[in-house]
Amino acid sequence: MINVTKTFLPPIEEFTKILNKAWEKKWLTNRGDLIVELENKLSSYLDVSNFFITTNGTLPLQIALKSLGINKEVITTPFSYVATTSSIVWENCTPVFVDIEEDSLTIDPNKIEAAITENTQAILATHVFGNSCHINEIDTIAKKHGLKVIYDASHCFGVKYKGKSIFNFGDISTTSFHSTKLFHTGEGGAIFAKDNALFKKIYYHHNFGHNGQLEYHGLGINAKASEMQAAMGLSVLPYMDNIIKKRKELSLLYEALLKDNKNVRLYNYHKDCSRNYSYMPVIFESESKLLSVLEALKKMKIHPRRYFYPSLNTLPYLSNKVEMLISERISKRVLCLPLYFELEVVEVQQICTIINKNKL
Ligand SMILES: *Cc1c(COP(=O)(O)O)cnc(C)c1O
Repeated sequence: MINVTKTFLPPIEEFTKILNKAWEKKWLTNRGDLIVELENKLSSYLDVSNFFITTNGTLPLQIALKSLGINKEVITTPFSYVATTSSIVWENCTPVFVDIEEDSLTIDPNKIEAAITENTQAILATHVFGNSCHINEIDTIAKKHGLKVIYDASHCFGVKYKGKSIFNFGDISTTSFHSTKLFHTGEGGAIFAKDNALFKKIYYHHNFGHNGQLEYHGLGINAKASEMQAAMGLSVLPYMDNIIKKRKELSLLYEALLKDNKNVRLYNYHKDCSRNYSYMPVIFESESKLLSVLEALKKMKIHPRRYFYPSLNTLPYLSNKVEMLISERISKRVLCLPLYFELEVVEVQQICTIINKNKL
């Protein structure tokens, strides 16, 4: 069976050797040596500072909204994973959807200003499939209207925008180290903020608001990552260059084999953004073409994923339903093809043959 992704696991001895350090110290969480070591290594690998690792990639979104004092309207994208919208709703804010741009599938900056009201406080946008939003344009609008910017950069491990880590952009950036993501710690994530005062606040928020053992800085939650998660990250990190190299080869092969297929469109990346080959999205001409390819692949035990689907403005728990024409149209037609370290060239060829043969 070929799935959309297969979690990269290092030889188990490498994991247990690192985990052994936690055993020896009998220290499993609350910023143990392994978490600190992983943060130091990520800091140089990604060239980032002012960040820490969290227990998943969703709590950082909630903490981001909380620490910026957001409690009213948040402009956001309908084309993302459900966690982007659910975090807004969970924090008792109102998501105000702005449709995406057809090409980049990221929030359309030309439509943002029309959605701004006196209650708008922030923009929460997702960098899609490792491709950056229109960061400059969003920044300009945010400055003009006094809005905070949060980027859900869950797909962006290792991505550079204009030569700098993409995690450096926005007031706050968040990411996910879930086991389906490019780099993983089983479950995990991280949160980034340039402003030192804001960063301190975020840090307190993630550890119950503790300011030392006996004092509290304010309200908090538990978003700490454990030593088991750190051990996983430390044993995966040394493989990342190779993993990305292999995924690049496979992605370029997919693109070469699919480029002449009139039924599918390949995805365009922003010119200022480097690629991390985290996903292999293709956009079909119609949903029926997508479904017939999906069926043909399923027969061969190949399971790509409809991602992102459905468009988030259609979530059942939203009270205020709006139409997002482009996002709804695209999410019905986008498929992420299998892409992972162990995937073989012949398997990519087989998948492309099925896609190219399938003429509905
Ligand atoms: C994976 C993902 C999340 C959630 O991250 P978790 O680590 O699973 O909590 C949020 N947003 C996007 C865009 C994601 O892909």
